[in-house]
Amino acid sequence: MREVRIKDTLSGEPASIDAGGEVGIYACGPTVYSRIHIGNARPFVVFSLLARFLRSEGYDVKLVVNVTDVNDKIYAAARAAGVPSEELAREMTAHYVADTERLGLGRPDHEPLASEYIEPIVALIADLVERGHAYAVDGDVYFRVRSLPGYGELSHRTIDQMDQGEGVEGADRKEDPLDFALWKGEKEGEDTSWPSPWGPGRPGWHIECSAMAEELLGVELDIHGGGVDLLFPHHENEAAQTLGARGKPLARLWMHNGMLQLAAEKMSKSEGNIRGLGEALDEVGRDALLMYFVAGHYRQPIAYTRERLDAAAASARRIRDAARRLQPGDSPEDLAPLRDAFFDALADDFNTAEALARVFDWIREANRREGPVGDAQLREMLEIFALDNLLEAEEGPPEELVALARQRTEARARKDFAEADRLRDEVRAAGWEIRDGSEGPELVPVA
Ligand SMILES: [Zn+2]
Repeated sequence: MREVRIKDTLSGEPASIDAGGEVGIYACGPTVYSRIHIGNARPFVVFSLLARFLRSEGYDVKLVVNVTDVNDKIYAAARAAGVPSEELAREMTAHYVADTERLGLGRPDHEPLASEYIEPIVALIADLVERGHAYAVDGDVYFRVRSLPGYGELSHRTIDQMDQGEGVEGADRKEDPLDFALWKGEKEGEDTSWPSPWGPGRPGWHIECSAMAEELLGVELDIHGGGVDLLFPHHENEAAQTLGARGKPLARLWMHNGMLQLAAEKMSKSEGNIRGLGEALDEVGRDALLMYFVAGHYRQPIAYTRERLDAAAASARRIRDAARRLQPGDSPEDLAPLRDAFFDALADDFNTAEALARVFDWIREANRREGPVGDAQLREMLEIFALDNLLEAEEGPPEELVALARQRTEARARKDFAEADRLRDEVRAAGWEIRDGSEGPELVPVA
Protein backbone atom coordinates (compact mmCIF):
# COMPACT_ATOMS: atom_id res chain seq x y z
CA MET A 1 0.00 0.00 0.00
CA ARG A 2 1.53 3.31 -1.09
CA GLU A 3 1.20 6.44 0.98
CA VAL A 4 -1.20 8.58 -1.06
CA ARG A 5 -1.00 12.34 -0.77
CA ILE A 6 -3.53 14.85 -2.05
CA LYS A 7 -3.20 18.62 -2.06
CA ASP A 8 -5.60 19.94 0.58
CA THR A 9 -7.42 23.12 -0.41
CA LEU A 10 -7.69 24.32 3.20
CA SER A 11 -3.98 24.12 4.10
CA GLY A 12 -2.67 24.44 0.54
CA GLU A 13 -0.32 21.56 1.35
CA PRO A 14 -0.25 17.90 0.33
CA ALA A 15 -1.84 15.76 3.02
CA SER A 16 -1.62 12.03 3.49
CA ILE A 17 -4.74 9.91 3.24
CA ASP A 18 -5.22 8.12 6.51
CA ALA A 19 -4.94 4.40 5.91
CA GLY A 20 -6.47 3.40 9.24
CA GLY A 21 -9.79 1.86 8.28
CA GLU A 22 -12.26 3.04 5.71
CA VAL A 23 -11.53 6.03 3.47
CA GLY A 24 -14.75 8.03 3.20
CA ILE A 25 -15.04 10.29 0.15
CA TYR A 26 -17.92 12.70 -0.33
CA ALA A 27 -18.06 14.41 -3.73
CA CYS A 28 -20.77 16.93 -4.51
CA GLY A 29 -22.93 15.71 -7.36
CA PRO A 30 -25.25 17.47 -9.77
CA THR A 31 -28.33 19.59 -9.20
CA VAL A 32 -30.85 17.81 -11.38
CA TYR A 33 -32.67 20.60 -13.21
CA SER A 34 -31.45 19.66 -16.72
CA ARG A 35 -29.37 17.01 -18.51
CA ILE A 36 -25.83 17.01 -17.19
CA HIS A 37 -23.18 19.05 -18.83
CA ILE A 38 -19.80 17.68 -19.89
CA GLY A 39 -18.31 19.84 -17.09
CA ASN A 40 -20.36 17.93 -14.48
CA ALA A 41 -18.81 14.71 -15.74
CA ARG A 42 -15.34 15.77 -14.63
CA PRO A 43 -15.82 15.43 -10.85
CA PHE A 44 -17.71 12.17 -11.47
CA VAL A 45 -14.72 10.82 -13.41
CA VAL A 46 -12.05 12.22 -11.06
CA PHE A 47 -13.58 10.83 -7.87
CA SER A 48 -14.64 7.50 -9.41
CA LEU A 49 -11.09 6.96 -10.69
CA LEU A 50 -9.56 8.09 -7.39
CA ALA A 51 -11.71 5.47 -5.62
CA ARG A 52 -10.54 2.84 -8.14
CA PHE A 53 -6.91 3.75 -7.57
CA LEU A 54 -7.20 3.72 -3.76
CA ARG A 55 -8.94 0.33 -3.87
CA SER A 56 -6.16 -1.07 -6.05
CA GLU A 57 -3.72 0.07 -3.34
CA GLY A 58 -5.70 -1.87 -0.76
CA TYR A 59 -7.65 1.02 0.82
CA ASP A 60 -11.20 0.31 1.91
CA VAL A 61 -13.07 3.12 0.13
CA LYS A 62 -16.63 4.36 0.49
CA LEU A 63 -17.55 6.88 -2.20
CA VAL A 64 -20.64 9.03 -1.78
CA VAL A 65 -21.84 11.28 -4.62
CA ASN A 66 -25.07 13.06 -3.80
CA VAL A 67 -27.88 14.22 -6.04
CA THR A 68 -29.34 17.64 -5.26
CA ASP A 69 -32.99 17.13 -6.10
CA VAL A 70 -34.40 19.96 -3.96
CA ASN A 71 -33.12 23.35 -5.12
CA ASP A 72 -34.25 26.75 -6.44
CA LYS A 73 -32.95 25.95 -9.92
CA ILE A 74 -35.25 22.94 -10.07
CA TYR A 75 -38.31 25.01 -9.08
CA ALA A 76 -37.44 27.59 -11.75
CA ALA A 77 -36.84 25.01 -14.50
CA ALA A 78 -40.01 23.07 -13.61
CA ARG A 79 -42.08 26.24 -13.69
CA ALA A 80 -40.63 27.15 -17.11
CA ALA A 81 -41.36 23.65 -18.43
CA GLY A 82 -44.84 23.54 -16.87
CA VAL A 83 -44.20 20.29 -14.99
CA PRO A 84 -44.21 19.47 -11.26
CA SER A 85 -40.75 20.02 -9.74
CA GLU A 86 -40.64 16.51 -8.29
CA GLU A 87 -41.33 15.04 -11.72
CA LEU A 88 -38.59 17.14 -13.37
CA ALA A 89 -36.08 16.18 -10.67
CA ARG A 90 -36.97 12.49 -11.03
CA GLU A 91 -36.64 12.61 -14.81
CA MET A 92 -33.29 14.46 -14.73
CA THR A 93 -31.93 12.12 -12.03
CA ALA A 94 -32.71 9.18 -14.31
CA HIS A 95 -30.91 10.93 -17.19
CA TYR A 96 -27.92 11.67 -14.95
CA VAL A 97 -27.65 8.03 -13.92
CA ALA A 98 -28.03 6.80 -17.51
CA ASP A 99 -25.52 9.30 -18.92
CA THR A 100 -22.85 8.63 -16.28
CA GLU A 101 -23.48 4.88 -16.55
CA ARG A 102 -22.22 5.09 -20.12
CA LEU A 103 -18.79 6.13 -18.79
CA GLY A 104 -18.43 2.53 -17.61
CA LEU A 105 -16.99 3.49 -14.20
CA GLY A 106 -19.61 1.74 -12.08
CA ARG A 107 -21.71 3.61 -9.52
CA PRO A 108 -20.59 5.37 -6.33
CA ASP A 109 -21.31 3.33 -3.17
CA HIS A 110 -24.08 5.74 -2.19
CA GLU A 111 -26.00 8.29 -4.26
CA PRO A 112 -28.21 9.99 -1.69
CA LEU A 113 -31.08 12.22 -2.79
CA ALA A 114 -31.59 15.34 -0.71
CA SER A 115 -35.36 14.72 -0.68
CA GLU A 116 -34.76 11.48 1.22
CA TYR A 117 -32.72 13.14 3.99
CA ILE A 118 -35.10 15.88 5.12
CA GLU A 119 -35.28 14.53 8.68
CA PRO A 120 -31.53 14.68 9.43
CA ILE A 121 -31.37 18.03 7.61
CA VAL A 122 -34.06 19.50 9.89
CA ALA A 123 -32.33 18.03 12.96
CA LEU A 124 -29.01 19.59 11.93
CA ILE A 125 -30.62 23.01 11.45
CA ALA A 126 -32.29 22.69 14.87
CA ASP A 127 -28.87 21.99 16.44
CA LEU A 128 -27.45 25.11 14.78
CA VAL A 129 -30.32 27.23 16.11
CA GLU A 130 -29.81 25.78 19.61
CA ARG A 131 -26.09 26.58 19.56
CA GLY A 132 -26.71 30.17 18.46
CA HIS A 133 -25.23 29.71 14.96
CA ALA A 134 -28.61 30.11 13.27
CA TYR A 135 -31.85 32.03 13.73
CA ALA A 136 -35.41 31.70 12.49
CA VAL A 137 -37.30 34.61 10.91
CA ASP A 138 -40.80 34.37 9.40
CA GLY A 139 -40.54 30.70 8.46
CA ASP A 140 -36.93 30.92 7.17
CA VAL A 141 -33.78 29.94 9.05
CA TYR A 142 -30.42 31.62 8.39
CA PHE A 143 -26.87 30.76 9.37
CA ARG A 144 -25.22 33.51 11.44
CA VAL A 145 -21.90 33.72 9.60
CA ARG A 146 -20.14 36.04 12.05
CA SER A 147 -20.79 33.56 14.88
CA LEU A 148 -18.04 31.37 13.44
CA PRO A 149 -14.60 33.01 13.68
CA GLY A 150 -12.85 30.82 11.08
CA TYR A 151 -15.40 31.46 8.36
CA GLY A 152 -13.67 32.04 5.00
CA GLU A 153 -10.57 29.96 5.78
CA LEU A 154 -11.39 27.16 3.38
CA SER A 155 -11.92 29.38 0.34
CA HIS A 156 -9.21 31.83 1.53
CA ARG A 157 -11.55 34.78 1.33
CA THR A 158 -12.03 37.85 3.42
CA ILE A 159 -15.44 39.19 4.37
CA ASP A 160 -15.47 41.80 1.56
CA GLN A 161 -14.94 39.07 -1.07
CA MET A 162 -18.04 37.20 -0.02
CA ASP A 163 -21.39 37.17 -1.72
CA GLN A 164 -23.71 34.31 -0.84
CA GLY A 165 -25.33 34.62 -4.25
CA GLU A 166 -28.78 34.80 -2.69
CA GLY A 167 -29.45 38.23 -4.21
CA VAL A 168 -32.33 40.13 -2.65
CA GLU A 169 -33.97 36.91 -1.44
CA GLY A 170 -34.40 37.15 2.32
CA ALA A 171 -32.35 40.37 2.41
CA ASP A 172 -34.93 42.06 4.65
CA ARG A 173 -34.97 39.09 7.03
CA LYS A 174 -31.24 38.50 7.45
CA GLU A 175 -29.42 40.01 10.45
CA ASP A 176 -26.40 40.45 8.20
CA PRO A 177 -26.09 40.28 4.39
CA LEU A 178 -23.35 37.66 4.92
CA ASP A 179 -25.82 35.17 6.38
CA PHE A 180 -27.17 32.38 4.20
CA ALA A 181 -30.34 30.30 4.14
CA LEU A 182 -30.60 26.93 5.88
CA TRP A 183 -34.37 26.59 5.58
CA LYS A 184 -36.67 28.44 3.22
CA GLY A 185 -40.32 28.86 4.14
CA GLU A 186 -42.74 27.70 1.47
CA LYS A 187 -43.55 30.38 -1.08
CA GLU A 188 -46.50 30.99 -3.34
CA GLY A 189 -46.27 28.79 -6.45
CA GLU A 190 -43.86 26.21 -4.99
CA ASP A 191 -45.19 22.70 -5.27
CA THR A 192 -43.15 20.76 -2.71
CA SER A 193 -42.60 21.38 0.96
CA TRP A 194 -41.88 19.51 4.17
CA PRO A 195 -42.97 20.24 7.75
CA SER A 196 -40.41 21.70 10.15
CA PRO A 197 -40.36 23.43 13.56
CA TRP A 198 -40.27 26.73 11.60
CA GLY A 199 -43.22 25.89 9.38
CA PRO A 200 -43.50 24.17 6.00
CA GLY A 201 -40.62 24.74 3.60
CA ARG A 202 -37.50 23.16 2.21
CA PRO A 203 -33.79 23.08 2.96
CA GLY A 204 -31.13 25.34 1.45
CA TRP A 205 -28.59 23.67 -0.80
CA HIS A 206 -25.56 23.78 1.54
CA ILE A 207 -27.24 22.14 4.54
CA GLU A 208 -28.35 19.19 2.39
CA CYS A 209 -24.73 18.15 1.81
CA SER A 210 -23.66 18.65 5.45
CA ALA A 211 -26.47 16.35 6.57
CA MET A 212 -26.04 13.67 3.88
CA ALA A 213 -22.25 13.57 4.37
CA GLU A 214 -22.62 13.14 8.13
CA GLU A 215 -25.34 10.49 7.81
CA LEU A 216 -23.32 8.34 5.42
CA LEU A 217 -19.70 9.00 6.40
CA GLY A 218 -19.74 10.73 9.78
CA VAL A 219 -17.98 14.01 10.55
CA GLU A 220 -14.25 14.37 9.95
CA LEU A 221 -14.70 12.26 6.86
CA ASP A 222 -11.50 11.68 4.88
CA ILE A 223 -11.92 13.57 1.61
CA HIS A 224 -14.54 16.10 0.63
CA GLY A 225 -14.42 16.90 -3.05
CA GLY A 226 -16.02 18.64 -5.95
CA GLY A 227 -15.40 21.21 -8.63
CA VAL A 228 -13.49 24.32 -7.60
CA ASP A 229 -16.58 26.35 -8.60
CA LEU A 230 -18.24 24.92 -5.47
CA LEU A 231 -15.53 26.13 -3.09
CA PHE A 232 -17.41 29.32 -2.29
CA PRO A 233 -20.06 29.59 -1.06
CA HIS A 234 -21.12 25.92 -1.14
CA HIS A 235 -18.16 24.21 0.53
CA GLU A 236 -17.32 27.10 2.82
CA ASN A 237 -20.90 26.91 4.09
CA GLU A 238 -20.94 23.12 4.40
CA ALA A 239 -17.76 23.36 6.49
CA ALA A 240 -19.23 26.15 8.63
CA GLN A 241 -22.50 24.31 9.29
CA THR A 242 -20.85 21.09 10.45
CA LEU A 243 -18.22 22.86 12.54
CA GLY A 244 -20.92 25.02 14.12
CA ALA A 245 -23.22 22.11 14.96
CA ARG A 246 -20.67 19.44 15.87
CA GLY A 247 -17.58 21.34 17.00
CA LYS A 248 -15.55 19.20 14.60
CA PRO A 249 -14.46 19.76 11.01
CA LEU A 250 -16.60 18.17 8.31
CA ALA A 251 -13.59 16.79 6.41
CA ARG A 252 -9.91 16.10 7.03
CA LEU A 253 -8.99 16.98 3.46
CA TRP A 254 -10.63 19.08 0.74
CA MET A 255 -9.92 18.18 -2.88
CA HIS A 256 -11.09 20.33 -5.79
CA ASN A 257 -11.01 19.65 -9.51
CA GLY A 258 -10.49 22.41 -12.08
CA MET A 259 -13.09 23.44 -14.60
CA LEU A 260 -13.53 22.56 -18.24
CA GLN A 261 -12.98 25.54 -20.48
CA LEU A 262 -15.49 25.61 -23.28
CA ALA A 263 -14.54 27.66 -26.29
CA ALA A 264 -17.12 30.44 -26.09
CA GLU A 265 -16.83 31.55 -29.69
CA LYS A 266 -17.50 28.12 -31.15
CA MET A 267 -20.71 26.79 -29.73
CA SER A 268 -22.17 25.06 -32.73
CA LYS A 269 -22.48 21.33 -32.68
CA SER A 270 -20.73 21.06 -36.02
CA GLU A 271 -17.61 22.63 -34.50
CA GLY A 272 -17.47 19.85 -31.99
CA ASN A 273 -18.31 21.93 -28.96
CA ILE A 274 -20.77 19.46 -27.55
CA ARG A 275 -21.88 20.47 -24.10
CA GLY A 276 -24.09 17.64 -22.86
CA LEU A 277 -22.40 14.50 -21.51
CA GLY A 278 -24.75 12.26 -23.50
CA GLU A 279 -23.95 14.13 -26.72
CA ALA A 280 -20.23 14.08 -26.00
CA LEU A 281 -20.40 10.30 -25.54
CA ASP A 282 -22.27 9.94 -28.83
CA GLU A 283 -19.71 12.11 -30.55
CA VAL A 284 -16.39 10.75 -29.30
CA GLY A 285 -17.16 7.55 -27.38
CA ARG A 286 -16.39 6.77 -23.74
CA ASP A 287 -12.81 5.57 -24.30
CA ALA A 288 -11.72 8.85 -25.89
CA LEU A 289 -13.67 10.86 -23.33
CA LEU A 290 -12.01 9.09 -20.37
CA MET A 291 -8.65 9.50 -22.10
CA TYR A 292 -9.39 13.23 -22.49
CA PHE A 293 -10.08 13.55 -18.75
CA VAL A 294 -7.05 11.59 -17.53
CA ALA A 295 -4.73 13.50 -19.87
CA GLY A 296 -5.11 16.57 -17.62
CA HIS A 297 -4.15 16.98 -13.95
CA TYR A 298 -7.39 17.09 -11.96
CA ARG A 299 -6.59 20.45 -10.40
CA GLN A 300 -5.87 22.20 -13.70
CA PRO A 301 -8.51 23.61 -16.01
CA ILE A 302 -8.73 21.70 -19.30
CA ALA A 303 -9.81 23.21 -22.58
CA TYR A 304 -12.72 21.35 -24.13
CA THR A 305 -11.68 21.55 -27.77
CA ARG A 306 -11.84 19.41 -30.87
CA GLU A 307 -8.00 19.20 -30.86
CA ARG A 308 -7.91 17.80 -27.33
CA LEU A 309 -10.67 15.30 -28.08
CA ASP A 310 -8.92 14.20 -31.29
CA ALA A 311 -5.66 13.77 -29.39
CA ALA A 312 -7.49 11.65 -26.79
CA ALA A 313 -9.03 9.46 -29.49
CA ALA A 314 -5.59 9.06 -31.08
CA SER A 315 -4.17 7.98 -27.70
CA ALA A 316 -6.88 5.33 -27.37
CA ARG A 317 -6.01 4.06 -30.88
CA ARG A 318 -2.29 3.94 -30.01
CA ILE A 319 -3.08 1.65 -27.11
CA ARG A 320 -5.28 -0.58 -29.28
CA ASP A 321 -2.49 -0.78 -31.86
CA ALA A 322 0.03 -1.69 -29.17
CA ALA A 323 -2.33 -4.34 -27.81
CA ARG A 324 -2.30 -6.16 -31.14
CA ARG A 325 1.44 -6.74 -30.76
CA LEU A 326 1.19 -7.93 -27.14
CA GLN A 327 0.17 -11.30 -25.82
CA PRO A 328 -1.73 -12.16 -22.64
CA GLY A 329 0.44 -12.89 -19.62
CA ASP A 330 3.40 -11.69 -17.58
CA SER A 331 5.35 -8.66 -18.73
CA PRO A 332 9.16 -8.46 -18.66
CA GLU A 333 10.40 -7.68 -15.15
CA ASP A 334 12.69 -4.93 -16.40
CA LEU A 335 9.62 -2.95 -17.56
CA ALA A 336 8.15 -3.03 -14.03
CA PRO A 337 9.79 0.28 -12.95
CA LEU A 338 7.65 2.06 -15.57
CA ARG A 339 4.53 0.43 -14.15
CA ASP A 340 5.63 1.42 -10.63
CA ALA A 341 6.20 5.00 -11.81
CA PHE A 342 2.60 5.05 -13.05
CA PHE A 343 1.30 4.19 -9.57
CA ASP A 344 3.77 6.57 -7.89
CA ALA A 345 2.44 9.43 -10.02
CA LEU A 346 -1.10 8.68 -8.87
CA ALA A 347 0.01 8.50 -5.23
CA ASP A 348 1.52 11.98 -5.64
CA ASP A 349 -1.61 14.17 -5.77
CA PHE A 350 -3.38 11.86 -8.20
CA ASN A 351 -1.39 13.00 -11.21
CA THR A 352 -3.20 11.11 -13.98
CA ALA A 353 -1.46 13.16 -16.71
CA GLU A 354 1.96 12.03 -15.49
CA ALA A 355 0.70 8.48 -15.04
CA LEU A 356 -0.63 8.42 -18.61
CA ALA A 357 2.80 9.48 -19.88
CA ARG A 358 4.24 6.39 -18.10
CA VAL A 359 1.71 4.21 -19.94
CA PHE A 360 3.12 5.44 -23.24
CA ASP A 361 6.72 5.05 -22.00
CA TRP A 362 5.87 1.42 -21.23
CA ILE A 363 4.34 0.91 -24.69
CA ARG A 364 7.36 2.49 -26.38
CA GLU A 365 9.71 0.16 -24.50
CA ALA A 366 7.55 -2.88 -25.19
CA ASN A 367 7.53 -2.03 -28.90
CA ARG A 368 11.32 -2.15 -28.95
CA ARG A 369 11.42 -5.74 -27.75
CA GLU A 370 11.89 -8.52 -30.20
CA GLY A 371 9.21 -11.14 -30.05
CA PRO A 372 5.89 -10.93 -28.21
CA VAL A 373 5.63 -9.16 -24.86
CA GLY A 374 3.11 -10.01 -22.12
CA ASP A 375 0.46 -7.35 -21.43
CA ALA A 376 -0.02 -7.84 -17.65
CA GLN A 377 1.68 -4.63 -16.50
CA LEU A 378 -0.10 -2.53 -19.09
CA ARG A 379 -3.39 -4.07 -18.03
CA GLU A 380 -2.71 -3.21 -14.37
CA MET A 381 -2.24 0.44 -15.34
CA LEU A 382 -5.19 0.67 -17.70
CA GLU A 383 -7.54 -0.93 -15.17
CA ILE A 384 -7.11 2.14 -12.95
CA PHE A 385 -8.42 4.35 -15.76
CA ALA A 386 -11.14 1.80 -16.63
CA LEU A 387 -9.52 1.58 -20.07
CA ASP A 388 -8.29 -2.03 -19.95
CA ASN A 389 -10.98 -2.78 -22.55
CA LEU A 390 -8.52 -1.26 -25.06
CA LEU A 391 -6.48 -4.45 -24.71
CA GLU A 392 -9.29 -6.73 -25.81
CA ALA A 393 -9.44 -7.84 -29.42
CA GLU A 394 -12.41 -6.25 -31.07
CA GLU A 395 -14.81 -7.85 -33.43
CA GLY A 396 -16.03 -4.66 -35.02
CA PRO A 397 -14.38 -1.29 -35.62
CA PRO A 398 -13.12 0.64 -32.58
CA GLU A 399 -15.66 3.10 -31.20
CA GLU A 400 -13.37 6.11 -31.87
CA LEU A 401 -13.50 5.25 -35.56
CA VAL A 402 -17.27 4.78 -35.50
CA ALA A 403 -17.42 8.26 -33.94
CA LEU A 404 -15.19 9.67 -36.71
CA ALA A 405 -17.43 8.08 -39.35
CA ARG A 406 -20.43 9.71 -37.69
CA GLN A 407 -18.65 13.09 -37.72
CA ARG A 408 -17.92 12.58 -41.42
CA THR A 409 -21.62 12.02 -42.14
CA GLU A 410 -22.38 15.25 -40.31
CA ALA A 411 -19.67 17.11 -42.23
CA ARG A 412 -21.14 15.91 -45.52
CA ALA A 413 -24.63 16.92 -44.42
CA ARG A 414 -23.42 20.48 -43.94
CA LYS A 415 -21.46 20.27 -47.22
CA ASP A 416 -18.06 20.55 -45.55
CA PHE A 417 -16.45 18.13 -47.98
CA ALA A 418 -12.88 19.01 -47.07
CA GLU A 419 -13.55 17.99 -43.47
CA ALA A 420 -15.45 14.89 -44.64
CA ASP A 421 -12.45 13.81 -46.74
CA ARG A 422 -10.04 14.49 -43.92
CA LEU A 423 -12.11 12.28 -41.59
CA ARG A 424 -12.34 9.51 -44.22
CA ASP A 425 -8.53 9.59 -44.58
CA GLU A 426 -8.07 9.50 -40.82
CA VAL A 427 -10.28 6.42 -40.56
CA ARG A 428 -8.45 4.78 -43.47
CA ALA A 429 -5.07 5.48 -41.85
CA ALA A 430 -6.33 3.48 -38.86
CA GLY A 431 -7.09 0.54 -41.14
CA TRP A 432 -10.81 0.94 -41.85
CA GLU A 433 -12.72 2.00 -44.92
CA ILE A 434 -15.99 3.94 -44.74
CA ARG A 435 -18.57 2.53 -47.19
CA ASP A 436 -21.75 4.48 -47.68
CA GLY A 437 -24.56 1.96 -47.76
CA SER A 438 -28.32 2.37 -47.81
CA GLU A 439 -28.33 1.91 -44.01
CA GLY A 440 -25.77 4.69 -43.48
CA PRO A 441 -21.99 4.48 -43.29
CA GLU A 442 -20.40 1.11 -42.63
CA LEU A 443 -16.83 0.40 -41.57
CA VAL A 444 -14.94 -2.42 -43.22
CA PRO A 445 -11.30 -3.35 -42.66
CA VAL A 446 -8.94 -2.18 -45.39
CA ALA A 447 -8.01 -5.30 -47.37
ZN1 LIG B 1 -22.30 19.68 -1.70
